[in-house]
Formats: sequence, structure tokens, C-alpha cells
Amino acid sequence: GGIDSLQPLETTIPDAERFRDVQPLQIRCPQCDQEFPFGGIASSNHYMMCYNGLQCKHCNHLFTPLQLTCQLERCIRLHISLYYAGWVQCDDRTCNNSVRRQISVFGKRCLNDGCTGVVHYRYSDKQLYNQLLYFDSLFDCEKNKRQQLKPLYVEGDTDFPRDLLTDSSIKALSEQNRDYLDVGRGVVQKYLGDCGRRYVDMSNIFDFMTPAK
Ligand SMILES: [Zn+2]
Ligand SMILES: [Zn+2]
Ligand SMILES: [Zn+2]
Repeated sequence: GGIDSLQPLETTIPDAERFRDVQPLQIRCPQCDQEFPFGGIASSNHYMMCYNGLQCKHCNHLFTPLQLTCQLERCIRLHISLYYAGWVQCDDRTCNNSVRRQISVFGKRCLNDGCTGVVHYRYSDKQLYNQLLYFDSLFDCEKNKRQQLKPLYVEGDTDFPRDLLTDSSIKALSEQNRDYLDVGRGVVQKYLGDCGRRYVDMSNIFDFMTPAK
């Protein structure tokens, strides 16, 4: 487990399940300051994708691609720095002082006197990789088109969309926003690693910033 190796991408797992524990992509409208989760071309009370991009439903502001990708990039960097911070936690529940920052070369053994526990990263490489894959999926035109994204809301949520997009409008909007989505995807791909190596060990991709192991 933990920081060890990554399994090859299990493409058969639906996104709703694979991305169960990821953080949403929070977007802020630059005009009215309303904050909302962006979940691709999906129904939302806060935004809609129109034929030429993302529009705030509160003030009708139309996001330029840059206004969206800047926020996406900031969010990615936030997750990377969280990982880079290197917080570790001892797996022995009786171990006090179990959360700390480990930035040196002591390996996986807990440093508390007498504790035989093993420390794991609280924000693991696998979690970060999965988070980036989630962001990637939001800008994946084909996935949008086929409505294979992790849903933003489940029925019963207080914020569950009042108006639901039809299947055909999602298909059309995906095509019309192909270039717009590609710009966002390019940003994520920059961080997801070079050469399309989609399922190599995370420690290879982020070697330059890997904390102690
Ligand atoms: Zn492990
Ligand atoms: Zn707005
Ligand atoms: Zn311990």
C-alpha cells in the first residue's frame, strides 16, 4: 500500500468509484465571486457550459479559457504542495504524536521511542495521481460526451440541480466545447507526466519533489 507502486490504470472501474475520495475542482466567478464546484459539462445550479464556454449562472459572466485554466492550475499546484509537504502518520493507533512532517531519510519506521509502527504519507502519491486523473477527466471531451464523469451531485443533495441537461444537449455541448476543454486538459497533462506514461510509478513522475521514503 501507501507510497509503494501504482497499479496499472484499471479502466473498467467507473469514475464515480475511482474518484470517490478526490476533492472537487472549486471555481470562483471572477465577476460575482460566487464559488462552485466545476464538474465538466454537467447540470449545476451555479454554472452552465454554453456553446462557447463556461458561464456563471449567477451573473451570466462568460469565463475566458484562461479564467478557467488559471484556477485549474492553481488547484493542481495546491494539491502538489500538499503532497510535497510530506506529512506522515504512524499506522499504530496507540502511538501518540502520530502526525508529523517527515522530510529526511529515516525511512518508513516510526521514530517514536518504542513504537514498532510504520509511517505512511497522509497524502500519498497515489492520491495525488488519482486527483490529477480526476481533473483530467473533467476536460476529457469523449468522457463528457458519454457522461462517464463522476457526478457532482447525488439525488438528495441540497444543491442538486433544479434543471437537468438532456443527453443530447450534453453531446452537442461536448462537441462545441472540444477546443475549450482541450485547453484545460493541456494544463493537467503538463503535470500528469511526460510521454503519456499514464500508469508508471508516481515516484518516477514526481521524482524531483519526492519527500523521504
Ligand atoms: Zn505502504
Ligand atoms: Zn458570476
Ligand atoms: Zn508510531
